[in-house]
Amino acid sequence: MAASGDRSGTPLARIKAALDDLPHWLSTLDDASLGEPLIEIREVIDRSESVFADGVRRFDESGEYKADGALSLTAWLRWKCKLSGGAAAERVEVARQLEKLPQTETAFANGDVGYQHVAALARTAEHVGAAAVRKEEASLLQAARTMDPGQFTAVAKSFEHRVDAAGALAEANHAYQRRYLHIGEPIDGLVRLDGLLDAEGGATLRAALQGFMKPVKDDARSYGQRSADALMELCRQGSGSKRNGAGPRPQLIIRASVDTLAGIPGAPAGELEGGGNVPAETVQRYACDSAIIRITGQGELDHELSHATRTIPPSTRRALEARDRHCVFQGCGRQLNWCDGHHLVWWTIGGPTTLPNLALLCRPHHRMVHEEGWTLERRDGRWIARPPAHRVPASSRSA
Ligand SMILES: [Zn+2]
Ligand SMILES: [Zn+2]
Repeated sequence: MAASGDRSGTPLARIKAALDDLPHWLSTLDDASLGEPLIEIREVIDRSESVFADGVRRFDESGEYKADGALSLTAWLRWKCKLSGGAAAERVEVARQLEKLPQTETAFANGDVGYQHVAALARTAEHVGAAAVRKEEASLLQAARTMDPGQFTAVAKSFEHRVDAAGALAEANHAYQRRYLHIGEPIDGLVRLDGLLDAEGGATLRAALQGFMKPVKDDARSYGQRSADALMELCRQGSGSKRNGAGPRPQLIIRASVDTLAGIPGAPAGELEGGGNVPAETVQRYACDSAIIRITGQGELDHELSHATRTIPPSTRRALEARDRHCVFQGCGRQLNWCDGHHLVWWTIGGPTTLPNLALLCRPHHRMVHEEGWTLERRDGRWIARPPAHRVPASSRSA
């Protein structure tokens, strides 16, 4: 149980008093001289972790955490020290392994290696045994001193493979068994994705997204937004043609009434096959190029004709690509395979699917036109895009 009573003058009290002074002192520094103090703050945190690990080991051995009613030290750390289950379990493992890795303990206490390095080494010791790590501890620590924790984890993994190839394979196989991808039901217009991939799957996904991640000029999208857009592009193109966007789109099927397509106020939302609703503007954007819209309700037959002609025929698409070459929004220039064919006068209100009425727009800009109220026109061979007169409450961050 933690001690109580007068603790003024203890090292912890002095550290806390110094921390009270730290923000003000830091605020007096000019921006150019912030680097050194930031490095030193991390050193203080890492060395505190080292002392913490030593205390945790003693607490573990004595079992004093039970006096508070906790069933395990990990549970106690979660409860009392504001740690997640994973972070608490890692601290316990670090404390237990450090006792068997004296060189690592010293390097940690001196600030030569950081907490994340030590955690990686503790995991390795847990997998292959501390005795195996001790045999190469000096060279592993040498690697840790010169690498960031991510790089060092790869070295530690490779070491595990050298001393216990079968174990490393079993671990990889176990990791592979845990793979999953869950695509949630739409809630408030959002679908939550979560999942785990094995290392190979993760690297494959990362490499595949990389090609679609490049920011465009004045790109206001966050890294996370660009990743999401890249994943959508990958899916669209993966199930489309090999060469460009002219091929079949993924079979996204939307059920929509004629009124929704025509944008009549009070019309119902479009229904995605597979669950979820989309606003009329989204239905119209999809209808603009080639998604499959199942038209429901009255007037179904009248629209058969439009339905047949709105999909841009390959010859028209080729002419459109030759004329526009990339997204026509000023400063964009996303390539053909990002682009839809947009109808300047929407086909839902009678615009023809012919070259003078078409423009190449990348998906984010196509969205801005339909869902965010931007207008686009072609005058003397130049494209002019105008923001909406009234701001449409939408993704102000899409590019
Ligand atoms: Zn369009
Ligand atoms: Zn664009």
